Amino acid sequence: MMVGNADAFKASVISKEQIIAQNERYQRQKELLARLDSCVEEKDATTPLAILLSESTSKEKRRKAAACLEKIGDLSIVDPLRNHNFRDPALEHAANAAIAAVLKQHFKKECPYCAELIKVQAKRCMHCQADL
Ligand SMILES: [Zn+2]
Repeated sequence: MMVGNADAFKASVISKEQIIAQNERYQRQKELLARLDSCVEEKDATTPLAILLSESTSKEKRRKAAACLEKIGDLSIVDPLRNHNFRDPALEHAANAAIAAVLKQHFKKECPYCAELIKVQAKRCMHCQADL
């Protein structure tokens, strides 16, 4: 016979809403992963970006997503990746490599003072006017 007051197991009670939300997350994740194979030819950076930023996705898929981002070459990935705290240093490294590859494709670099994207050959930042 179990002994305990009415509050004893409240922390482990999962509501129906939580289960529904969890299932929706799982479905979204499944759909994203299904689109990973075609994202490069479709020039879809949103899908691999979401996968790379998802801490709950496998390391292998996130690594693959980073490789896709390098090939797609969309500059809009820079800020979301820079502002994400990667728990895994290897994945952070992969994200940095993707950023470097994309910047190179567009002949861009990040200003060391204001972090805006500027031309590689710039001698002065067009955003903060800093001499480089
Ligand atoms: Zn600047």
